[in-house]
Amino acid sequence: MVLNDLSPRYPFAEYGIDIPILGSNGRKTVEALLATPGILERREQWLLEKELTEVSRERIERVHESAYVARLFGEACEAEITKTFELIDENGAYHRYDPAAARRPLCDLFDRTRRSAQGTVEAAHLALKTGFCFYLGGGMHHGQYDFGSGFCPINDIVIAARDVLATADITSVWVIDVDAHKGDGTAALTDGDASIVTFSQHMASGWPLDQPETLPDGRPNPSHIPSDVDVPIGEGEEEEYLMKLRIGLDALKAHPVPGLAIVLAGADPYERDELPSASQIKLSAAQMLQRDLLVDAFLRSLQIPALYVMAGNYGPHSWEVYTRFLTHFLSRATSR
Ligand SMILES: [Zn+2]
Repeated sequence: MVLNDLSPRYPFAEYGIDIPILGSNGRKTVEALLATPGILERREQWLLEKELTEVSRERIERVHESAYVARLFGEACEAEITKTFELIDENGAYHRYDPAAARRPLCDLFDRTRRSAQGTVEAAHLALKTGFCFYLGGGMHHGQYDFGSGFCPINDIVIAARDVLATADITSVWVIDVDAHKGDGTAALTDGDASIVTFSQHMASGWPLDQPETLPDGRPNPSHIPSDVDVPIGEGEEEEYLMKLRIGLDALKAHPVPGLAIVLAGADPYERDELPSASQIKLSAAQMLQRDLLVDAFLRSLQIPALYVMAGNYGPHSWEVYTRFLTHFLSRATSR
């Protein structure tokens, strides 16, 4: 099953923000899949397209501090979005942001985030029902308990995990995060929660790990809280990436087999992805496909239902990563 949100997702340029988030990668992926003979004919069996609504405040409050949630839903929304997308630098100047070029209000991005989180929640339930759902959105793994971070005002991964744990007949969820950036928000929000086991394979240095040990208010920075399994990849270690992934996934087997795995299949480790802060891992198209097939084979070997989300994807080529994996997956004549 592939879930695609039909509500509009404008390029970030429409908000006056110079970040290469195009908003079109889901649509491009579906178009490419529908142009593939053998997959096109079976579209009714695998494609679900709909306009998503916004995730409820109650679901957000299961994960985030209620005072922070109140700011997002109130007049402080614009200030919180400005911080989360790093639109003002330490000197008070606009950073990759030109309000005069904006055609839409910044707080639209919060509504968009809530639709994205709703998609992750719905896709999690679809994955439980059908064994596999790839949601063409989601993956806001930097969202922290009481603040937004790294373009993520809220953390849809933990929102969805908590939702299925509360409402479905399962006792644990694994989060397998192979985005280029560490899943720091997910690790921090689930620290000490044995029902959500986190795996993150990411750049060994750079953002978010290069932040100070403490926040401006003196608290320890939660970005440094480890995942249950962390697999750091140093610059130039592309050839070892798959071997390290295999070893890291095996380490997950120390935990009981869960009722659901959530995979953050970020496209930003791809060499043609355009986010500068993800440039320390440059996997080829073939290596990206092997990454995704390795995770898929691992989960199938343990018969774990899987929800995939897009996570980081920047610039005009990242949709190719999702398309290659899904073409492979949907071409396989299995019942999954
Ligand atoms: Zn990323």
